Amino acid sequence: MKIDWNNVDTVLLDMDGTLLDLHFDNHFWLEHLPQRYADHNGITRDQAFEKMIVLFQKTKGSLNWYCLDYWSDALSIDIVALKLEVKHLVQIRPFVTEFLVFLQQKNCNRVLATNAHRSGLELKLAITNIDNGLDEIYSSHDFGHPKESQLFWQALNDVQPFDPARTMLIDDNQSVLQSARTYGIKHLLSIAQPDSQKPPQPDGEFVAVECFNNLIT
Ligand SMILES: [Mg+2]
Repeated sequence: MKIDWNNVDTVLLDMDGTLLDLHFDNHFWLEHLPQRYADHNGITRDQAFEKMIVLFQKTKGSLNWYCLDYWSDALSIDIVALKLEVKHLVQIRPFVTEFLVFLQQKNCNRVLATNAHRSGLELKLAITNIDNGLDEIYSSHDFGHPKESQLFWQALNDVQPFDPARTMLIDDNQSVLQSARTYGIKHLLSIAQPDSQKPPQPDGEFVAVECFNNLIT
């Protein structure tokens, strides 16, 4: 991929599905949690999933969608404890570590910008140590607005000033990329295959990274 790194001085990086394999999250929310919720309540997995899908639809794209406290309350279950049961699935995607070192060599500010809730974020940092390759870490829960909202980018720019024309965002979520584009962020990249156990995403309107090795030029 041809990127002129002289024109980029801040790289905003999503976590789940970008730096880390989305397989953990998909497995947790679609398999593990429904099964454990069913066990907990003496109902079938399908019945559990039916109940959860209503809440999924109600919250998608909002901050609650990403809020582990919300889900712990709504389902009366300890979400963080359940995540620990499948923590072996938390994996760094190929060549991410090398890419973060490369960005440092290019004098880019490496900023994690995630919708992940702080408790899930801390869990993943402890398992992967990806924070060693990052300069700053922000959760949208710190600002009270998800990345899908313009208010997130304004709040981020207030605490971590960046020039949108010299900033790159890499994120597997198309809605978030659209939101960043509206805010004026110039360099926008998607992720071809956020979940290693699923087929690639269909082509969207943003160029997709197939492997981070392709960005090291
Ligand atoms: Mg993501």
